[in-house]
Amino acid sequence: MKKRKINPISLKRAKIQWALLPIFLIAASLGWKYHWLGFVVPVAMIVGMVGGLLRGRYVCGNLCPRGAFLDRLLAKISPKREIPSFFRSSYLRAFMFAFLIGMLTFQISRDPGNIMHWGFSFWLICFVTSILAIILGIFFHHRTWCAFCPIGSFGALFGGHKRALAIEREKCVNCLLCEKVCPMTLKIASKNSNDLICNRDCIQCQECVGHCPKKILSLVKNPQGKESCAEESLPQAALQR
Ligand code: SF4
Ligand code: SF4
Repeated sequence: MKKRKINPISLKRAKIQWALLPIFLIAASLGWKYHWLGFVVPVAMIVGMVGGLLRGRYVCGNLCPRGAFLDRLLAKISPKREIPSFFRSSYLRAFMFAFLIGMLTFQISRDPGNIMHWGFSFWLICFVTSILAIILGIFFHHRTWCAFCPIGSFGALFGGHKRALAIEREKCVNCLLCEKVCPMTLKIASKNSNDLICNRDCIQCQECVGHCPKKILSLVKNPQGKESCAEESLPQAALQR
């Protein structure tokens, strides 16, 4: 049987994610016993937030250890249904942000002088949200959690306009392969007639770029800035989908 050739973009990303995967698996499965492992969580949060300010959701798509778990393992058993618009709602995102900060503060306040308890608290938050991510992935799509992850929403809000997809429309054959492989189930070629597609929730994985048979997609610095993403601001994007 002929072996399917993987495009270089997907291959490079897969290698990075396979390397990150053990971080998630070890921290999530052993953090209840070795509380210091929980400190992986604030490190990942800081990297995600700084990355979010600089480059939107790039970290979500390429460097997040939990994202690696979702793409490399959970995707194998996920039905990969389109992520329901409810999960992109700005209300849900705001609620989740407040809920997690509240939970974390409450949990830490139970023994604030004990640094290992801080580690345990971070692990607990990571564990609970990972269980939620797995359940959502089994029923909907493996990246459903990422539609309302507080760190991802932060990146989308403050840096999501910084990168966009450039498309050579006239060469597009409307095969929609780009949309089929998009882990965030975003509209790409079918969206509108613009040559620049800016979606704040794009996690910049470039799977669409690598899979496009016509090689007409590229991820670029968004020359139009916030303006081109204006109608895709989080609340409106949630309403549109
Ligand atoms: S994969 Fe490429 S050719 Fe196919 S619809 Fe998307 S942009 Fe167009
Ligand atoms: S639009 Fe392309 S780069 Fe953005 S998340 Fe979807 S597949 Fe990845």
